Amino acid sequence: MAERPLTLMAVHAHPDDEATGTGGVLAKYAAEGITTVLVTCTDGRCGDGPGGVKPGEPGHDPDAVAAMRAEELEAACAALKVSHLELLGYPDSGMMGWSTNDVAGSFWTTPVPEAAERLAGLIRQYQPDVIVTYDENGFYGHPDHIQAHRITMAAVELTGSPAKVYWTTVPRSGMEEFGRTLRELGVEFDVPDPEPDPASDTAPQGPPIGLPDEEITTWVDTRAYGSQKYDALAAHASQGENIFFLKMGRERFTALMGVETFLRVRDTTGAPLPEDDLFAGLR
Ligand SMILES: [Zn+2]
Repeated sequence: MAERPLTLMAVHAHPDDEATGTGGVLAKYAAEGITTVLVTCTDGRCGDGPGGVKPGEPGHDPDAVAAMRAEELEAACAALKVSHLELLGYPDSGMMGWSTNDVAGSFWTTPVPEAAERLAGLIRQYQPDVIVTYDENGFYGHPDHIQAHRITMAAVELTGSPAKVYWTTVPRSGMEEFGRTLRELGVEFDVPDPEPDPASDTAPQGPPIGLPDEEITTWVDTRAYGSQKYDALAAHASQGENIFFLKMGRERFTALMGVETFLRVRDTTGAPLPEDDLFAGLR
């Protein structure tokens, strides 16, 4: 029997999340002959429409937005050479507090066990060795990202697999530079205070983003794949809020976003930490 190829599964909330958070590792591991599976949980219907029209504004047709974003996602997967794209197809729930959160059938209102069972079916089918998703805050508090985290951890529980599970994160040391670069480019971007003062009413709302460097377990250098990551993000051209990364140009984009960082939360390999490879201990 032929040896089964190593497999990476990334579970994301919306079309375009795969490019920003894991575009580097998807491209890198595909280039190394590893099978890559992208699971996108929602249809992105609460994203921008053509010309940057926002949900709820005249001219925003959620069905048309979902169809356009599905095409963009296909193009991004081609750029990253993703082996298999799986769409769970739940309606996008929109940002926390939007009325779309509570629409019947939205990802946010779907019972976790129900969606987790579907994801568990994909885990049994593809038998990934590594799964990547978000932390319990969904990285930045979006309901669909939180839900993607919940169903992934429940599916891992159901299947007792894979060998390694990771949550995406960013090093706090890099966030100042990130903010500075974006301000230079004229992009409004408030670097969240890692330890907001609860007494201050100007403290940013929402969960803290990123981790202190010493808590990050896994640093993967994907700079050689920066151009593919850039192309994948560019494929989601309809999403104005993500285009700002592209203003950096390929070189600065790669310098700033070329090392992808993770927190290892499950491991049966015993690979020592910190590590520089999601497949350390598996090959
Ligand atoms: Zn998202």
